[in-house]
Amino acid sequence: MKFQTLIIGVVLIASSCTPPQFTQSNLQGGVDGGGGNTFIAQPVTSEEIESVIVSDAKVALSGFFIGNEKLLASTKPEYQKLYPKIFTLLDTVAIEIRSNQLCSDHEGNHKDGSIYAQSENAICISTYSMAGKLNQQNYEAETFGLIAHELSHLAGFNEVEAIQLQNDVVNTYAKESFKNKQEMLAKANKFLEQIISTMQFSIKDKTWDGYNAPNSFVNVIDDFRKKVKDSSNINFITSTENDLILVEYLRLYNLSEFVYASDTLLYSEGQRNYGKDCLEHTFQGRGSVTAYEAFKTPNTFNLHLDKEVLSNIVFLNPRNLDIAKSEMSVTSNFLSDLLVKFNERSSAQFVIIK
Ligand SMILES: [Zn+2]
Repeated sequence: MKFQTLIIGVVLIASSCTPPQFTQSNLQGGVDGGGGNTFIAQPVTSEEIESVIVSDAKVALSGFFIGNEKLLASTKPEYQKLYPKIFTLLDTVAIEIRSNQLCSDHEGNHKDGSIYAQSENAICISTYSMAGKLNQQNYEAETFGLIAHELSHLAGFNEVEAIQLQNDVVNTYAKESFKNKQEMLAKANKFLEQIISTMQFSIKDKTWDGYNAPNSFVNVIDDFRKKVKDSSNINFITSTENDLILVEYLRLYNLSEFVYASDTLLYSEGQRNYGKDCLEHTFQGRGSVTAYEAFKTPNTFNLHLDKEVLSNIVFLNPRNLDIAKSEMSVTSNFLSDLLVKFNERSSAQFVIIK
């Protein structure tokens, strides 16, 4: 039954030769603030705050800064100052955790967080002072916000800009527990792992039919892309990676047309001719085209990749099973590299100094 659904889905797609489209913070880095909450808040301990700094903060902030790179550039021009420096800062700046005292600014005033730490290349975060102001409902988002505030000073933000950013981070993560996002990321990683192993199994197979045909991967790849694009403000793949996934999606799409054109058991003569026509439409009799040529007319994908990048990616015309399989290996290798990066990104942690 599932098999039939997959085939029907792909036949529908193939009816056209063009593939389908697809609160204000309680914490202040500069000035100590008090949290005035009207609900009965459950307290949080400095150990719980420390735990979220250690295991979640770097992943959460990567997701925020990746997700906002394109969006904020147009709506909040000052944010452009952060890029690409913020990614280097995320990777190189350590967090000095004060679990029983406050941080201080350059004048010695007590703060929740500060760019002044005892260690080199570190920011100071006082889980001690944060625990007194935060609760179970807000401590994750507030912790991410305060770290973003301090890092942004290192990227050149003034106090007004840093507070604005801090509030944006807090509001972004206030809606749901970061634990849910971590689970979503783990699922996406597992999903990608499964796609790759099924593809590798398929490449070794003598024929391509049923589940082993590239048809079934076309939609799966796009599903994965949508899974990791969590929302407009949090994103765990970069826009370049997203576009490169679409490039591989088109490569697989060519392969599914090859299956239509050549599978005499599953498809009628009319369907086979249709597959041939679609391949002819893309390749125009040539043995290969660049991704730039393939996407150019018409560009339904709205890719942001440079012409130069697209011109360096080649699609081979899948004229036989060997060529088709070597094309699928290209996609499989691309996804394997992506999985490595993705695993690193979803388990990244700050260096902690205590
Ligand atoms: Zn500040």
